[in-house]
Parts: sequence; structure tokens; C-alpha cells
Amino acid sequence: LTSGLEAAWSKLKGEEVLTKENIAEPMRDIRRALLEADVSLPVVRRFVQTVSDQAAGVGLIRGVKPDQQLVKIVHDELVKLMGGEVSDLVFSKSGTTVILLAGLQGVGKTTVCAKLAFYLKKLGKSCMMIAADVYRPAAIDQLMILGDQVGVPVYKEGTEVKPSQIARNGLEEAIKRRIDVVIVDTAGRLQIDKAMMDELKQVKQATNPTEVFLVVDAMTGQEAAALVTTFNIEIGITGAILTKLDGDSRGGAALSVREVSGKPIKLVGRGERLEDLEPFYPDRMAGRILGMGDVLSFVEKAQEVMRQEDAEDLQKKIMSAKFDFNDFLKQTRAVARMGSVSRVLGMIPGMGKVTPAQIREAEKNLQVMESMINAMTPEEREKPELLAESPTRRKRVATESGKTEQQVSQLVAQLFQMRVRMKNLLGVMEAGSIPALKD
Ligand code: GDP
Ligand code: MG
Repeated sequence: LTSGLEAAWSKLKGEEVLTKENIAEPMRDIRRALLEADVSLPVVRRFVQTVSDQAAGVGLIRGVKPDQQLVKIVHDELVKLMGGEVSDLVFSKSGTTVILLAGLQGVGKTTVCAKLAFYLKKLGKSCMMIAADVYRPAAIDQLMILGDQVGVPVYKEGTEVKPSQIARNGLEEAIKRRIDVVIVDTAGRLQIDKAMMDELKQVKQATNPTEVFLVVDAMTGQEAAALVTTFNIEIGITGAILTKLDGDSRGGAALSVREVSGKPIKLVGRGERLEDLEPFYPDRMAGRILGMGDVLSFVEKAQEVMRQEDAEDLQKKIMSAKFDFNDFLKQTRAVARMGSVSRVLGMIPGMGKVTPAQIREAEKNLQVMESMINAMTPEEREKPELLAESPTRRKRVATESGKTEQQVSQLVAQLFQMRVRMKNLLGVMEAGSIPALKD
């Protein structure tokens, strides 16, 4: 398959311009790749049409090969289809913001509730969660436990009380306590039914939410888009949250949701841990959709073009850095901010998959590293060689940071290892006909 794709693309290599004829075969590959990524057929059709119209007759940018340019058009169009930019959370301009979560059973609503509280707490907002799933006592307990973990209060009442009443009372309590954001967890069913919709409408009416999110499981593929559309028609939603993107779902859901329902995906869940929630980045998702199995070479081409365009790309930043301890610190902080080391490492080719245990370990290491780097002089940070050469300096850094000399030595060694690794990566890229980046 890969060679077939390669052949299709290579046909474009000698061309001067993109035409309807010479893009036909590559477009067939793109079509197949999207269908394999579980994007719905009508969306794929429209997409292929749009790209073909746009690509045909387009003048080539100097220095960009026609095949690369087509990939770029495809990539950009995918990003556009998913809304282009990150769609930020909306907060009430005055007083308490209410976020209502809806969705079928088992999609991850209760988990999202806690993750969202955790996320908002990091943004400095005070939160409260309301347990409005009264059908299973275990559902309330689950939220209580999560509330404890996050350190956020949970409002609950007996299972005999109507969810809309609980939500109303909970909101009143939150307003009294001047809470910034209230997140309402609701009950799901295995399938859409009238009782669930009616209940959601009542809860919505009782709380007048700023955001109403449908939580959808990415594994449901195309079905996700239909669900978002239905919930939007029935109760009116402001966006979707896509969960379980850490599984082997192929991301096609993300593309269909926006295109079919017109509603943005605001956040994505990538795991069971509290920190596994992040804004939805259309460009990263485009990469993921294009990066499927046998279309890997396709995404490599896209990256190549984006590099040529000087994209603000972490990969490039890493590659072009002289990479001293200042860069090291900047990057470890950036990584910490993003909350997920694995995401970042996943973006660097050749580093492979990372396990959750490794991620936790890495996060702990970041703190230790920071304290040591903070104990270095500006000169030492810029010239790591100074530390490599002088045990006295290493000893001083160890004492000032409260770490052992061995830990300092390890950190210095690690920096030099990273430099080597980057040089190797650079070598790989040169081999792939990508212009060498400055040292
Ligand atoms: P709810 O019925 O919609 O409230 O769903 P829950 O929040 O109880 O989640 C159902 C199951 O999915 C639980 O076992 C969660 O740990 C799991 N889960 C939720 N979100 C994610 C995610 O993003 N990734 C993975 N792998 N599992 C998740
Ligand atoms: Mg639940």
C-alpha cells in the first residue's frame, strides 16, 4: 500500500502545476486514507471536492514541490474543517459559570467532570461539581471520590430528588459560596431516549449554563457526529468533548463532528488520569488523521512543507536550538505546562511510544531538574561544558539545590546526550531531503 501511495505521489514530482488530471490519483489515496480513519463518506466527498477545486490550477510556490503543495492544501483544509483555531472555553461575564455535561452512558462524562475541575483549578478558578446522576448511587460515590482527588467540593442530594432540582439547589449553593465554575454531571443512557432528553432540558432550564457539552467517545467513529447533531437539535449544545483519544480510535470522529454538526470540539480526553484533558488542536488532529498507518509518508511530507513555511513547530525549535540549559529549562517547563510529556515526545519522530508510568516518572524528574538548573549561574547554563569540566561547580550546584552530586552529573550528561540525539535526528532529516536547519 505504501509503495502504491508513493507511486501516486511520485507521479506529481515532475509536474509544473497541479491540474485536475494529475491530482486525481493522489486524491484517491487521500479519500481512502480518510475513510480508513473513519471519517464519514459525505464529509470525505465534500472534502475531496474542495481540495480538488482548490488545488487544480494553483500556481506553485517557488521551492515547493507540487506533491508537497498538494499535501499542504490537504492539511490546511483538514484543519479548516475542524474549525481552524482552538475553540476556547467560554465563561460567564459576571458571576458563576455553569458547564453542563451530557452524553450516553460510559462515554466518560463523570471522568470529564473531574478532569475539567482539575483543569480549571489550574487556571485559578474555584470549582464545584454537582452530582445530578441519581439513577445509580455508585455514580454519586464515583464523583465524590473524584472530588476528593481534585480537591473540589461535590454537591449531592438523595437519589429520590429530581436532577433538575439538585442542579438548581447546587447552583444556588455555589453562587452563595462565590464559586467561579460549576460543572454538572448528568446521567447517560445506552441509547438516546426521550426521558434522557427531557431530563437534560430540565437541568438546562434550571441552571442556564454558559457551556453545554456533549461528551462523545472517539471510538464511536462516525457515530459521534450524528450524536452531536441530535443532541444539538434536541437540547442545544455549545460544543463537544471527545474522550478516549488515547485508544486506537482513528480520529475520524473529530473531523466529522465539526463538519456535520457545526459545533466545535473544545476539549479532548486522552486517558484516565485527571491531567489527561487538553484543548482540541485542529492542526494536531489533522496530523493524526493523516498519520494513519500506511499514510505515514504522507504526514512526513506535510511536516516537510510546514517546516519550509517556518511553522511555529516545537520540533523545529528543538532542532534549531543550540540547546544549553536555558533551552532545557524552557522546554521542560513547556512540557510541564502542556501537562503531558507523552504528547510532546510523540511529536518527535524516532522517540517512540511512552508508557503512563514513564510519563509520571518524567514529570517528577522535571521538578528535580528545575531545582538544579535554578542553582546554576547564567554562565553555566549557557556553557554546560563548564559543569562537565569542573567537579567543584557540580558540587556547588548540588549543595545549593539540595540534590546529590551524582544527580547533577546525571543532568549534565543528559544534556549532552540530548544534543547528540538531536544531531542524529538532524542527520535523519537530511537524508530525507529536508533542508538542513542551522546549528
Ligand atoms: P460516564 O458513564 O459517561 O460518566 O463515564 P465514566 O466517566 O464513568 O467513564 C467510563 C469509563 O471510561 C471509566 O472506566 C473511565 O476510566 C474511562 N474513561 C473516561 N475517559 C477516558 C479517556 O479519555 N481515556 C480512557 N482510556 N478511558 C477513559
Ligand atoms: Mg457518570
